[in-house]
Amino acid sequence: MIRAVFLGPPGAGKGTQAVKIAKKHSLVHISTGDMLREAVKEGTELGKLAKSYMDKGELVPDDVIVGIIRERLSKEDVKKNGFILDGFPRTLPQAKALDNMLSELNMPLDKVIYLNVPDEEVIKRLLLRGRADDREDVIKKRLQVYRKQTQPLIDYYKEKGILAEISGVGDIEEITRKIEKALGLA
Ligand code: AMP
Repeated sequence: MIRAVFLGPPGAGKGTQAVKIAKKHSLVHISTGDMLREAVKEGTELGKLAKSYMDKGELVPDDVIVGIIRERLSKEDVKKNGFILDGFPRTLPQAKALDNMLSELNMPLDKVIYLNVPDEEVIKRLLLRGRADDREDVIKKRLQVYRKQTQPLIDYYKEKGILAEISGVGDIEEITRKIEKALGLA
């Protein structure tokens, strides 16, 4: 049982690795991006609101995202099995809100995996992936937003002493093994 956050630029492979590792070790995979895309597909109020930000490569407001995560983390499976947070937190206020929620729930974070991939590689991967928000102009915006709003979390978690930096370039299996090792799962 482990409680982890996967951090890194868009296209770093967070989702791929999170799905794989969560499945293998029976952890709950929580992806805010997946939850938002689901809401967009269903056409809910949340979906409509989220789409207006996602289409531009901007972040959905913190209070909206924190609300979604608060609800998800309160479920029993999370407490029982542990979790991998994929794509959350993405801003310092989100990280602080997460700390508060987890301390209230008595479920401290064990590790933050920072998957490091250089910009050129990220752009190449996203253009190949071809998701709705993987257009060149939107990709550029998402990278800018990542640098400005999400990158400060690397130092935030480094200072807490729970950051593990892993190169996200190379063989997928090899990267999985490195993450598992950092999480104490291997
Ligand atoms: P992702 O699938 O993680 O790349 O997320 C896709 C899009 O969903 C992002 O570009 C944001 O618009 C939105 N999103 C996902 N997670 C968050 C978050 N933690 N905070 C704000 N917006 C988010």
